Amino acid sequence: MITISDIIAQIDSTSAREVIETALAKARESSDYHALLNLTAERALERADAVDAGKITGKLAGVPFVIKDNFLAFGAPTTAASKMLENFVAPLQATSVEKLEAEGAICIGKSNLDAFAHGGSTENSAFGPTSNAYDKTRVSGGSSGGSAVVTALDIVPFALGSDTGGSIRQPASFNGVVGVKPTYGTISRYGVVAMASSTDVIGAFTNNVSDAELVISIMAGRDVRDMTTLPNFFEPLAETKPGLKIGLISDFMAEGVDSDVRARVNEYVAKLRENGHIVEDVSLPMAEYALAIYYILVPAELSSNLARYDGIRYGFRAEGVKTLAELYGRTRDQGFVTENKRRIMIGSYVLSSGFFDAYYLQAQKARTLLINQFNKLFKKYDMLIGPVAPTTAFKIGKNSSDPIKMYLGDIMTVPTSLAGLPAISVPAGHDESGLPVGVQLMGPMRSDAKLLALARSMESKL
Ligand code: GLN
Repeated sequence: MITISDIIAQIDSTSAREVIETALAKARESSDYHALLNLTAERALERADAVDAGKITGKLAGVPFVIKDNFLAFGAPTTAASKMLENFVAPLQATSVEKLEAEGAICIGKSNLDAFAHGGSTENSAFGPTSNAYDKTRVSGGSSGGSAVVTALDIVPFALGSDTGGSIRQPASFNGVVGVKPTYGTISRYGVVAMASSTDVIGAFTNNVSDAELVISIMAGRDVRDMTTLPNFFEPLAETKPGLKIGLISDFMAEGVDSDVRARVNEYVAKLRENGHIVEDVSLPMAEYALAIYYILVPAELSSNLARYDGIRYGFRAEGVKTLAELYGRTRDQGFVTENKRRIMIGSYVLSSGFFDAYYLQAQKARTLLINQFNKLFKKYDMLIGPVAPTTAFKIGKNSSDPIKMYLGDIMTVPTSLAGLPAISVPAGHDESGLPVGVQLMGPMRSDAKLLALARSMESKL
């Protein structure tokens, strides 16, 4: 598994140009995974030459990375894997990308996702699914599937993703890499195509925990262009003290969850205990309602955010229309995929005057109850642990015609998203057919550094 320090050593002994050329060649050789929608080769090589000439310096000088294609970045279109933005060329870069570039990192390409990040398998991409890094007949997970796969295939040591309800953690788990969803507000979302504004967060995929700590610490901090950002609180910790109190969410370990998934979580728990931590079973009864809450609030927010794609301001515009209403209708019908349209309809419905109180308002109240339950648990426990998803990567096509089945796969990741809490997925072994299994560690707001330090301390012990 390639890490940032491996790459930095390679740049020192060869050149940034050679490292970037190698990454681009690997990306081209792996095109059958369909993890990348576009390469940013020209710009990447220019930046590599600037690193070699000493004109670009920084902690990540010459280090290649990949960006989920819902981040605005230079060198290729920003499509959000949709026909709506197929030819959209970003006029600016996301703050997170700017910060990484300021440290010398070099983007080599934009990765595939479910269109507008709606989904958990990348099968909703308008340009076709991404294959799992371990089995090409299986899904990569999603929505940030492409970013997880390029990290797992060692094309790059890190990749960016967004996580609204699990889109970093679940593909990380499906492909055996580290996936970090920081506390809501840690990293600016300026320049990232919005999905659901009250849960969207930016995070990263890496091959080890310390690389994630480095990348997150570079991107974190207040941004005047995103008023939800927090002043930077993220300071990686040297070590973890033994004796942490960790709650194992028993609601996520019930029948119906793959036995291999449960076994890997139980093994991780055993290792935590061996290393001096205290793990006890806890219950999060509101988890039962988390999907219902999420699939009301998230469609409500995304239906508002997607209202801007009207065929007039930018992006795709349908041809051959006679009236304004037809222009809006045809553009949105042809520019969005089925899952986008399903969510826009649900969102518009739950926000409509007759149903607002019955659905949207009730869901907001239930969300508060869920947050209260987390807060209560964190009075007694430093952290929580559980699986990332009920299964390992499933076959492409298996769930794609059944949205409810697909949504059920999000049960373990959406609760922390609704509460804005930090959560990470760390590799914890494999199932009997060799597919990766991830374990999820979750903590209270702003406990990111502690969470990552614990995950790092366990890395060598598994
Ligand atoms: N799978 C979840 C959904 O479909 C999460 C998506 C995300 O985090 N972008 O909404």
